[in-house]
Amino acid sequence: MRYMDEFRDPTIAKALLKQIASLCDEIAKTRDEPIYIMEICGGHTHSIFRFGLDKLVPKNLEFIHGPGCPVCVLPMSRVDDCVEIAENKNVIFTTFGDAMRVPGTKKSLLQAKAEGCDIRIVYSPLDALKIARENPDKDVVFFGLGFETTMPATALTIIRAKNESIKNFSMFCNHVLVPPPLRALLMDEKMQLDGFVGPGHVSMIIGKKPYQFIADEFHKPVVIAGFEPLDLLSSVVMVLQQIIDGRHEIENQYGRVVPEDGNKAALDAIASVYEPRPRFDWRGLGEIEYSGVKIRDEFVEFDAEVKFKVGYGAGKGAGREPDDLLCGEVIKGLLKPVHCPKFGVECKPETPLGALMVSSEGACAAYYQYGGRREQEVV
Ligand code: SF4
Repeated sequence: MRYMDEFRDPTIAKALLKQIASLCDEIAKTRDEPIYIMEICGGHTHSIFRFGLDKLVPKNLEFIHGPGCPVCVLPMSRVDDCVEIAENKNVIFTTFGDAMRVPGTKKSLLQAKAEGCDIRIVYSPLDALKIARENPDKDVVFFGLGFETTMPATALTIIRAKNESIKNFSMFCNHVLVPPPLRALLMDEKMQLDGFVGPGHVSMIIGKKPYQFIADEFHKPVVIAGFEPLDLLSSVVMVLQQIIDGRHEIENQYGRVVPEDGNKAALDAIASVYEPRPRFDWRGLGEIEYSGVKIRDEFVEFDAEVKFKVGYGAGKGAGREPDDLLCGEVIKGLLKPVHCPKFGVECKPETPLGALMVSSEGACAAYYQYGGRREQEVV
């Protein structure tokens, strides 16, 4: 299949793995500790485990799984806000399916639906707008979630709702930005990172420039990567080569999809509807300044946070996460999922305690699905 088979060629994979082994040997001549490369995107985490790349690279190369799964970084308090909106008898609450099982402090949306709330799974924000047109006597709320990748679609939906004067549609905005948590991680003294495999989908929208601070201020290499095995292996080669050369640049391995300057039309749509929030709460990372966006005042009638007075719209700050969950340590890359005592015991994909076990892009779910259970047995 075009664009797949040529990026899964075993002969090329073997050659790249040989190159990675040789570059790792070269780096090991001058340091004892492992080489830590963070893959930022949950899609990359999924691919690494799906294709077993973590088992194929040398032992002194460790993948650290970053905060790039939007469902996983959603704090419980925001799920509570969703449930509060959905419990309003006049509301039809719409969401993507992967958010249904994310635990809140009391219940998930799935549990709220089982208790009788009108919660519907949709495949696009335009589906939610259609439901609003068909149910003029109900308030239809869409759960807006995701990084820069999903923002253009929700922005264009809000513009369409305004153009069509649809009054019974609003969005609970939980969109977050990729660069601010990376800065927060790099400023954390406990983090050990040598370089990044940059997110492919987000970069398709924002381009290379927003990562420049990682090279300029923190002197770390970033290579934006695609999602097939050869994409990831080539990107690791490029990161390792930068480390050996003493370079710290933003390189683009995924040039077939990611334009250097991003997608102007998508960026314009985002800028016309959203503005940065002064702060936003991240699961496991706490509140990070200017790390999320809110709906601009020109579109405030579509802002469910204001309409239903929840979350920051009700003046509420960051919620508190349960003390006995180690999800935050996994999101920061300080702990492997298999080292969480609840992994595979109380916390499984069927009964997730933390959001990292819900989405297929979550590090815990990826470990569980592709062999982490086996690894746990030998820890
Ligand atoms: S196994 Fe469950 S509780 Fe433990 S870190 Fe992962 S999601 Fe959180």
